[in-house]
Amino acid sequence: MSDLLRDPGHRRAVDLEAPVDWALELSRVDPKTPLRAHLVLEGTSGGIVARGRVAVTARHICRRCLTEWAEPLEVEILEVLATDPEAEYRLHGDEADLEPPLRDAVLLAMPLRPLCRPDCRGLCAVCGADLNTGSCPGHDEAPGFPFASLRDLLEP
Ligand SMILES: [Zn+2]
Ligand SMILES: [Zn+2]
Repeated sequence: MSDLLRDPGHRRAVDLEAPVDWALELSRVDPKTPLRAHLVLEGTSGGIVARGRVAVTARHICRRCLTEWAEPLEVEILEVLATDPEAEYRLHGDEADLEPPLRDAVLLAMPLRPLCRPDCRGLCAVCGADLNTGSCPGHDEAPGFPFASLRDLLEP
C-alpha cells in the first residue's frame, strides 16, 4: 500500500474473495459462500480511499416465524483508511486492513429485524404452528387469549 500513500492520485484495483463469518442476531453472511469484493484503492494525502462493490450471500431468520432463507446482497463501498490515529479505519504502516470497513458496510445493509414477508403471521403462541401454513387449528383466534393483544403491541 505504501506506493499509494507516497503517490496521491495513484490507483490500484483489488479483487478479494474470502469466506467471512459476520453476523447480527438474526442475519449473517453465509460463511460457506465466499465474499467477493471489487475495489479501487486510491492514494490521497494521509490515506487511501477504497471504493467499489462487495457481494455476499446473506442468510436471514424471520423474526416472527423463524423461517430461514438466503439472498444475495450487494453493497457499495466508499471508505477512507487513514494514518490519522483518530480515523475510523486506520492504516497500520503499509497495511490496509479492508475487513473492518467491508464488515461494517455489509452488516449495515442487513435488516435488523428480518421478516420473511411483510405480512408474515408468525407462530401460534399456543401450539407453535406456523400460522402462514394454516396448520394451527385456530388458537390465535381463541376468544380471550390474554397474550394476543399484547403480542400485537410488541410486533409492529
Ligand atoms: Zn416469517
Ligand atoms: Zn395453534
